[in-house]
Amino acid sequence: MLHAEIDIPVTAGPLTLITPQWIPGEHQPNGPVNEITGVVFTANGKTLPWRRDDVNMFEFHLTVPQGVTTLHAHLDCISLWRVTQKMGVLEWEKLLLYPANTPVRDIPIQPSVIVPAGWGIGTALTPLGSGAYPVPASGTTTHFAATNVEQLEDSPILTGEYFHEFPLAPEISPKHFIDVVSDEPEDSNLRPDALAEIANLIREADALYHSHHYNQYHFLLTLSDIADGEGLEHGQSSDNGVGEKAFSSQDHQLGDADLLAHEFTHSWNGKYRRPVGLYQPDFATAQQGALLWVYEGMTQYLGYVLAARSGLESQSQFRDVLAMDAASMDNKPGREWRSTEDTAVAASILRGGNSAWANWKRGQDYYTEGVLLWLDADTLIRKLTNNQKSLDDFERIFLGKGGNTGPLIVTYTFDELVQDLNSVAPYDWAKFLHDRVDQINPHADLAGIEQGGYKLIYADKPNAASETMDANTSSGSPGINAWYSIGLRLSSDGKLNDIRVGSPADKAKLAPGAKILAVNGQVFSGDRLRAAIRDAKGKPEPIRLIVQADTYVSNVEIDYHDGERFPALERTEGSPDYLEDITKSLVPPRPAQPATGKR
Ligand SMILES: [Zn+2]
Repeated sequence: MLHAEIDIPVTAGPLTLITPQWIPGEHQPNGPVNEITGVVFTANGKTLPWRRDDVNMFEFHLTVPQGVTTLHAHLDCISLWRVTQKMGVLEWEKLLLYPANTPVRDIPIQPSVIVPAGWGIGTALTPLGSGAYPVPASGTTTHFAATNVEQLEDSPILTGEYFHEFPLAPEISPKHFIDVVSDEPEDSNLRPDALAEIANLIREADALYHSHHYNQYHFLLTLSDIADGEGLEHGQSSDNGVGEKAFSSQDHQLGDADLLAHEFTHSWNGKYRRPVGLYQPDFATAQQGALLWVYEGMTQYLGYVLAARSGLESQSQFRDVLAMDAASMDNKPGREWRSTEDTAVAASILRGGNSAWANWKRGQDYYTEGVLLWLDADTLIRKLTNNQKSLDDFERIFLGKGGNTGPLIVTYTFDELVQDLNSVAPYDWAKFLHDRVDQINPHADLAGIEQGGYKLIYADKPNAASETMDANTSSGSPGINAWYSIGLRLSSDGKLNDIRVGSPADKAKLAPGAKILAVNGQVFSGDRLRAAIRDAKGKPEPIRLIVQADTYVSNVEIDYHDGERFPALERTEGSPDYLEDITKSLVPPRPAQPATGKR
């Protein structure tokens, strides 16, 4: 439970206070009002009655009596997410209550926080006083400089018992830090190699963007198997939640290699430059997702590129992950009815959906479609300019307008995007984008891979990156991928998560939620299913399964004879290797430094 005490300057008369509904970066109206409890208003020592708005659940109405100039609000928020016995992330929207119908950047606020005794604090908020956060003793309040509600919401607090703050790339201005907490004492003291690669990320981003839009930047990182699975961008920080051992080795970090690069890139693309429909001056007006294939899609691409350039993953791992992404999008039957643009427009109803038939529904495909789209644009610019220019030049223009700034929001439209692309390499960019984003395209955009000097193929073994990620999942059991063969994704106990529409498994009438009990007369295991797929290659006999659906058991025959299939990229000899050029460091690598973090 989080607790807040808020003093609000008021004048006598009717007053409407509101809590946030549309949280920036969440792309859906999921403000935590349903978890806000214990709301009590007092003035001059007396409790004041309130009434919730009949239509807008986020609004509280009350009447301020004559003679009252300060209203006190107490509220609590039940928070089951991003908190463990040893750490927590405070997202301020859980505790915000402020006058309605006022732009949030015009509402001043002076924040302070009390965390458990001895826990360290990491945040992009400016400390009052000494310039650093002392580790608080019991009941100690940490005060921050006055800001406004928009900036406060954008500046979460990371706190934990096993806390380390590491300064990164000190030669680069302004200052960058990574603040780390973990459930186990040893994990938050990041290994020197990981710190060196994250410092490289800052140098590579500096070399790519040639600008910055923060006064200082804090990566906030939690290492926990209980509070993992988070990545949320902010202008001067990012909230990154990964598994307990996610940064314990190069192999472990592969599954999250692009996370910090993605969230860091958002400081430029998404926070500073924001699609006009995704910015609202309050947290109450609906945000419109139409350009999320830029906000998220281009960020996803740049996150991959920066992860490879900074050594968080290798160039061959970049290609392996790209192959998996391209195959996933190219085998997505839902693209026969739904455009990529519609996945962006409908983002608020596509987040966190069920995996059942997700391939027919499509999910938030604007992320991965964006990788293919912006790779296509990058390689096309290189082709048009004989590799003299690239998407890097576009980013310097588009994300660097106004030079270096503090945290600001500058909105853009589709037309500005087209104009800036044209200033790098003249082309019919409006048609290029419309064709790929708004149209129904039964196949994914593989032109970037082909212009980049490679071809998407299907091999009979998983690629190296896929094997590494499977061997290092935090849960320890990665599940079985038979997606490109019989058309199944299943967990290691045989439970079917999704069936590819039109696949042999779909033709055999398998459905999500069912469970495979036996394969060719033997009790199910992932290895037996994979062996059965291999054995059926070129033979007339079907793969025979016994399947449980609800309380019924039935025999199922899958008519499939092409063996196992896993995506990979194959080099097209003799063509320019732009994928190599795209993923090469712009900055010479530096040797790893010993850890110098302070507790
Ligand atoms: Zn993102």
